[in-house]
Amino acid sequence: MSKQSVIVDQQSTFSNDQMHNNSIELEQRYGAANYDPLPVVLSRGLGAELWDVSGKRYIDMMSAYSAVSHGHSHPRLVQVLTQQAQRLSICSRAFYSDRLGAFLKRVCDLTQMDSALPMNTGVEAVETAIKAARKWAYTVKKVTENQAEIIVCRGNFHGRTTTVVGMSSKPQYQFGFGPFAPGFKTIEYADPEALAAAITPNTAAFLVEPIQGERGIVVPPKGYLQTVAQICRERNVLLILDEIQTGLGRTGKFLACEHENVKPDALILGKALGGGLLPVSLFLSRRDVMSVFKPGDHGSTFGGNPLAVTVALEALNILFEENLIQRSEELGDYLHQNLLEISSPLIKEIRGKGLFIGVELDSRFAKGRTIVLQLLEHGLLSYETHDTVIRLAPPLVISKRQLDEALAILKKVLLAKTT
Ligand SMILES: *Cc1c(COP(=O)(O)O)cnc(C)c1O
Repeated sequence: MSKQSVIVDQQSTFSNDQMHNNSIELEQRYGAANYDPLPVVLSRGLGAELWDVSGKRYIDMMSAYSAVSHGHSHPRLVQVLTQQAQRLSICSRAFYSDRLGAFLKRVCDLTQMDSALPMNTGVEAVETAIKAARKWAYTVKKVTENQAEIIVCRGNFHGRTTTVVGMSSKPQYQFGFGPFAPGFKTIEYADPEALAAAITPNTAAFLVEPIQGERGIVVPPKGYLQTVAQICRERNVLLILDEIQTGLGRTGKFLACEHENVKPDALILGKALGGGLLPVSLFLSRRDVMSVFKPGDHGSTFGGNPLAVTVALEALNILFEENLIQRSEELGDYLHQNLLEISSPLIKEIRGKGLFIGVELDSRFAKGRTIVLQLLEHGLLSYETHDTVIRLAPPLVISKRQLDEALAILKKVLLAKTT
């Protein structure tokens, strides 16, 4: 008997409870403890719904940190994935493919950028942005070699590599992982004057999120992006927007910077770009920034592979053809309004744009983990960020009926404690 069939046979004799416990035990015994998952073992997803191993159904209000904006197993995406997998998946960038060019053109047209460099995970595209900004500073702006600075914001989240956690202000992200790369300066978020004061002749770029997601869906005051864009323009500093989480319809616009009609010098996309099926990310920029890269300067074995870009191109098409951006705006407003009407002492603040909403709890009365466990019990999947903020960011394909179901669960849980 082959090893494969032994495993299948074993599984079929397991009860759902055993399956649940066994999966958790195996992850815990053989994995690293770098995550703290909720005690649910998922086995299937479709659209905005997920099922665990016992067949219990959940409304997905997480969408894998916005990677699943198109919903789970979107039929059109599954179809192009399987078709392209049978033609050509990986061929490396040592050769041209008949898929990459059309994808790059489409995404440049949509974002009004001149050029795009494909990577896989978000943080790789952030690393690409850092390299581009630094080399631009040396070769175009004529900053002295090794003196370039990149300004970032307190509370940022740009990923987990050693360089990128080096610019984090969260002690846990850094503790035990130093020494970190120099060349980053941290200023307060949502404070244009701090930016103006921090810029020196060596400043290459200002890297910022239009909304700080991981910090707890922190929305800056209106006009912030416009003001920083103007400062960057006047001082010859690149404005690089990390829209890995806010981009692609999440906030009710194609890009969050469109809320303020801001066009950055460079842009980072990821997460939903892979249609919930694959990791696909991009660094996009003006031509004079991208042209700093010469053959051999930068690359990725998997970046821009035919399979990934076929799925990503279809994912972009679906955003428009299924009106997902408009849905995000309308359903986001609906969710936001209805949340505001829940009068619970547990709620301190509700903030966000589109289907990207954070419910900040009053830490005196409730812990994020307690609430997400209760939501889980009632069939709603969410997760806390920074201990006190409940993240509500469902797939953009969620129906009004499913959203009402989620709201009913939220009401039940958030109002229960007070009675
Ligand atoms: C998720 C995220 C990243 C990192 O993306 P990975 O794919 O996890 O590497 C970077 N920036 C922002 C704003 C994100 O939300």
